[in-house]
Amino acid sequence: MSKVNTVLGPVPPEELGIVAVHEHIGYGMPGSELDTRWWKTPEERYAETVPKLRRFHEHGGGTFVDVTGICNGRDVDYYKSLSAKTGVHIVACTGFVGGDTALPFFADASVEYLTRQFVHEITVGIGGTGSRAGVIKVGVSRGGRMTELDKRIYRAAARAALATGVPILTHLAIDAENAIAIFGEEGLPLDRVLFGHADDGVNAEKTRDTWIAEQGGRVGFDTFGYETELEDPPFWARPRKQRLDHFLRFIDGHLDKALASADANCSPLGWPGVQGHSVNYIVEDLFPDLREAGVDEATITTLFVDNPADFLTIRN
Ligand SMILES: [Zn+2]
Repeated sequence: MSKVNTVLGPVPPEELGIVAVHEHIGYGMPGSELDTRWWKTPEERYAETVPKLRRFHEHGGGTFVDVTGICNGRDVDYYKSLSAKTGVHIVACTGFVGGDTALPFFADASVEYLTRQFVHEITVGIGGTGSRAGVIKVGVSRGGRMTELDKRIYRAAARAALATGVPILTHLAIDAENAIAIFGEEGLPLDRVLFGHADDGVNAEKTRDTWIAEQGGRVGFDTFGYETELEDPPFWARPRKQRLDHFLRFIDGHLDKALASADANCSPLGWPGVQGHSVNYIVEDLFPDLREAGVDEATITTLFVDNPADFLTIRN
């Protein structure tokens, strides 16, 4: 039977509904949990998060993929409770946002150690939660080129993806030549990889999105909503129309390789987050923008239901 791992157990891919494929329940830099200034009670975290997930569910949102990963605030028991409370399927990940957010314990680990860790979290579970990871997160460290550690993590992720059938999702799609070389050496088909953040204001110019798609990779326009029009835009913001036009150009020819999301934080950890941005941008802003641009309902279904279901389904 085809299935996708969620924190409350495996679900058939046709039950995922509308998928937000790159999101965060709460993302923080490693160590932020030690800064008492940012501590939040469980009640405060619920109060910030539950209404956003409920609204997503009311809009027809079915599945929220949390790509926070090890060392950045992943909290699987909390996700289970949120999923049960709101009815939204939550997919948790194994892996790291990037080499530069892996703490020394993992940064010093071998490819074999990291592979074992990822495979265990996918096939046995994440700690004692009983929840299995549904996706592997990897990423390019700040600086624009893959570091030796990034490459070790990508190689371990490729081996774990091959061993388990779970896909890989990347933070940043720059330096894709090096990433694709590693996946090629390991024999991983590129349609098991979603190259993310192709659309952000810092990296869009440096990302060879159509080239990646032509190699067989999937491309994530997953920072929708981080716009220069926001009151206090982050450094990776981009003008709304510019991002939308970029996306429209890409899906005209590469629709089967396209995925989109908002990369928002329901309840940020160790930083204030970006005000006025949430996962609900997808349904409340992006869907209307796409319709206004002439994109039909079948295409929206392909982008937010069929493509993510195909990507997330465990491949045997
Ligand atoms: Zn993210």
